[in-house]
Amino acid sequence: MKVHEYQAKELLRNRGVPVPRGEPCFNVGDALRVADDLGGDRWVVKAQIHAGGRGKGGGVKVVDSRDGVQEAAEEMLGMMLVTHQTGPTGQQVNRLLVEEGVDIARELYVGLVIDRSSQRVVVMASAEGGTEIEDVAARTPEKIFKALVDPKFGLSQTDALALMEKLGLEEQQAKEGAKFLQRLFEAFWETDASLAEINPLVVTSDNRVIALDAKFNFDDNALFRHPEIVAMRDTDEEDPAELEASAVGLSYISLDGNIGCLVNGAGLAMATMDIIKLYGGEPANFLDVGGGATTDQVTEAFKIMLRNPELKAILVNIFGGIMRCDVVAEGLVQAAQVVKLKIPLVVRLEGTNVERGREILEKSGLDMITATTMDDAAEKVVSAAGK
Ligand code: GDP
Ligand code: MN
Repeated sequence: MKVHEYQAKELLRNRGVPVPRGEPCFNVGDALRVADDLGGDRWVVKAQIHAGGRGKGGGVKVVDSRDGVQEAAEEMLGMMLVTHQTGPTGQQVNRLLVEEGVDIARELYVGLVIDRSSQRVVVMASAEGGTEIEDVAARTPEKIFKALVDPKFGLSQTDALALMEKLGLEEQQAKEGAKFLQRLFEAFWETDASLAEINPLVVTSDNRVIALDAKFNFDDNALFRHPEIVAMRDTDEEDPAELEASAVGLSYISLDGNIGCLVNGAGLAMATMDIIKLYGGEPANFLDVGGGATTDQVTEAFKIMLRNPELKAILVNIFGGIMRCDVVAEGLVQAAQVVKLKIPLVVRLEGTNVERGREILEKSGLDMITATTMDDAAEKVVSAAGK
């Protein structure tokens, strides 16, 4: 699960990690009130969307007057903000963060992720802050320093300090930076985060070390023990198809292709996407209807897939294990009637009661292409989508 920058900063602030003073705003009046409350003569107005690269897209404005705050807020609220992470249509801005302006002496980068090969949290730090760290990693990987954290002891002061010194911070700043890192790690650890990124982490002209930006992702499987994080969820930022699917108990992920996939079991769903690609097609989605999908769920699955205007064909690939093929077949026939399918449907059934299942499909008179093997199914659906 992702959260907004202002939510990540609130979480950090509550754990003693230094962040600029600021508050979220939902309208221009709010933004002005927050600016007045903050005082000073410089503010930053920041669009809150679940994507980075906002600065370049016009989603971060540093202003030095009350009128400037108003102008920036008017401009940003409701805009479709396009960044390299949003896709071409962009993401609508519904919330802002208004913060005190900070005097930047240096922009650094700090990131925490879980390194699966060592099964530890890895802390990354670089002096190349404020830029796209992916570029730094690709072009000059030696400029990113790393430390693996032993879960038994957490991030030690020694390791945190060593990282900060590698960034060229002098003694006092490095100490501040190390304290920052240790607290950031604690926040990451305690919230079951899967990613934390502070870009930029800045050294201010008065020598404070402070998070100017903050991105946090959390492990969905651990959310049950963090109701305060679940409460931060902003469904406006999520894919409507994925939300609808999760509401009816389906695992659905939107993809860029044009072949809809309805599969039971995550492994088979992955294999199905792979083989579609192998035959030159592109899957429109990942969809796992689970081990015990009902007719209603199959119907919902069809509806969700069909809302995608790019869809050219659907492949149903079901292995009847606990779920019997005859039940699936009945579900399919009903679902296809309800949604009045107009694009080619390729069906592959295998497993328990497969003969009865095929018989039901044949007798139904439903317009479909039947397939036997995975290869057969992939070949047929790719060809159907191409027509
Ligand atoms: P992102 O583009 O979505 O990553 O948004 P950031 O929060 O990282 O902001 C982009 C850039 O805006 C930063 O790298 C800074 O250079 C600049 N910026 C943000 N806040 C301030 C501020 O308080 N003062 C100044 N001078 N610049 C800021
Ligand atoms: Mn940033």
